[in-house]
Amino acid sequence: MGVWVFLSTRDNDQPQEQREGNKADELLAVGTLFEATLSGMREGLLVVDKDMRVVASNPAAHKLFSASTTRLKSQRLTELTRNPAIYSAFLDGLKGNEVTGVKVETHGPDRQVFDLRVVPIGNVNGNGAEGALGVFFDITRTERLELVRQEFLSNVSHELRTPLTSILAFVETLETGAKEDPESCQRFLSIIRKNASRMHGLIDDILELTAIEGGNVQLRARPVELHAVVDDVCASLAAQAEARGVTLENNVAPGVMVQADSRRLEQMLTNLIDNGIKFSPQNGTVSISHEPGTRDRILVTDDGDGIPAQHLERLFERFYRVDRARSRELGGTGLGLAIVKHLALLHGGEVTVESELGKGSTFTIHLPKTPVISADKT
Ligand code: ADP
Repeated sequence: MGVWVFLSTRDNDQPQEQREGNKADELLAVGTLFEATLSGMREGLLVVDKDMRVVASNPAAHKLFSASTTRLKSQRLTELTRNPAIYSAFLDGLKGNEVTGVKVETHGPDRQVFDLRVVPIGNVNGNGAEGALGVFFDITRTERLELVRQEFLSNVSHELRTPLTSILAFVETLETGAKEDPESCQRFLSIIRKNASRMHGLIDDILELTAIEGGNVQLRARPVELHAVVDDVCASLAAQAEARGVTLENNVAPGVMVQADSRRLEQMLTNLIDNGIKFSPQNGTVSISHEPGTRDRILVTDDGDGIPAQHLERLFERFYRVDRARSRELGGTGLGLAIVKHLALLHGGEVTVESELGKGSTFTIHLPKTPVISADKT
């Protein structure tokens, strides 16, 4: 192995006795190091002889094949696993071929996915190799991220396609004559504008979420006067609230301080209050209050429709919506709560929801008194 090559090139210019002493020490050290490396590796390692019996393995491999198996030594590979992909990869290895990219999955509650690479070892001649070494790379996380990425891309494409299709359809209608009728022309143009601004909002939210998730958003948490921040947010949403006949109530006592990045706190409150307005009935009320405790709690409460219990768990996922059509109709992107969740996590806090059908919902931002600022990669 490479370790031996390293030793023999180093000790040439020393007296022989010293060389031997060094060699024993170094061998011991290398042996310990080697064992420690194999034991510490996340990758499972399995060596079989030409009869397909396991002659070496590391703890990661023990775990992979069966948590209760502490020694795999001298078991046949077929006794260990019935997975044909693993068997044929090792068989190929014994024939003298290098095999890469074999996907191996474990089943059960802790599903894991591995990428298996098998290489022949020892002399490879007409009868094949003396043994084969297989390395199982754990790609569970990579696979999961890839799935999330694909799902995200497909959601984004779908979300963009809907308004785009509508824009194209109305442009075509205008081109084929509707533009001559001023009333239709005005109506169609306003539909086009609405859809275009939806796409705009969606792209803004996607960029924002990507930046937060990518760890590219730096927070500057300092003491912030909550009442004033809530006032600012309510003022910026006043027109929307008025249009829907919803009253905004700032119930935070003046002087209450919380530890937050004020711009990001505003963003979280804007998303939550905006939702409160959208999902409130005519003449509804959205109120914002503060509760002290080991963590500061900022509550946004509405007296809207409420959210059915079965949706609560997934509500903060990207693009998750209780009623997709209604959310679209209200100009939603389905990303607002995901952004709130990530910003709250970045503050070292969290966001939670309580809701009762027909009575309304309360979204609570929990902020630590001393913020833990960490890059959020969930
Ligand atoms: P959207 O852009 O659709 O509002 P969000 O991520 O902000 O996206 O919210 C996701 C979904 O959660 C909404 O579509 C809606 O179904 C539900 N929701 C959020 N806030 C409320 C609320 N205050 N009352 C009722 N439902 C809500």
